[in-house]
Amino acid sequence: MISDKEKGKLIVRELIKRYGREIPLYLNYHKRKPYEFLFAVIMSAQCTDIRVNLVTKELYKKYDTLHKFANANVKSLEHDIHPVGFYHNKAKNIKECAIKLITDFDGKVPNDFEKLLSLPGVGRKTASVVISHLYGIPAMAVDTHVARISKLVFKLNLKKVEEIEEFLKKTIDKKYWELWNTHIIALGREICIARKPKCTICPIYKYCKK
Ligand code: SF4
Repeated sequence: MISDKEKGKLIVRELIKRYGREIPLYLNYHKRKPYEFLFAVIMSAQCTDIRVNLVTKELYKKYDTLHKFANANVKSLEHDIHPVGFYHNKAKNIKECAIKLITDFDGKVPNDFEKLLSLPGVGRKTASVVISHLYGIPAMAVDTHVARISKLVFKLNLKKVEEIEEFLKKTIDKKYWELWNTHIIALGREICIARKPKCTICPIYKYCKK
């Protein structure tokens, strides 16, 4: 019987074998405009990254400064981001987020988890993705794939996302937190599909099913 930490290490090794050491970036943004990454992550809730990228391709040409987002007409912004779904809330949050970034953070995306959480539309998952990607600060982002698959492989009976996040932080080596997020999501999309997991070809089968 191996410990959870040992199991975590072995799973990370299998994930690296399959998906490599690189952390893939699926959302497009301009490197000089980190707020674009933040807004893309906000838009990616319940939406595919491909669709977000299709929307932001035009959106970031039209709103090419943070001030343009802050001064946006919400109805018009809703129309512009319509394909990403939940566009009423997302448009409202993006505009309010832009205003708060300008008024409270000098137009910069904060590199502090709690400050990120204070932004409209930013929950723990978004804050974790943003802080680890933009600033290289280790954070464990738990989305639906990460929660579901982590619970399966570690036989967890946890309900709250915060509890799963806490468990993973204790179990997975800090340097692999971001990789755990991206590679488990890749596994969830390709192999461990919620309604029809392809267990026979799963690279972590022996750790999940024992
Ligand atoms: S073995 Fe099956 S259930 Fe377990 S992670 Fe792989 S695909 Fe999912």
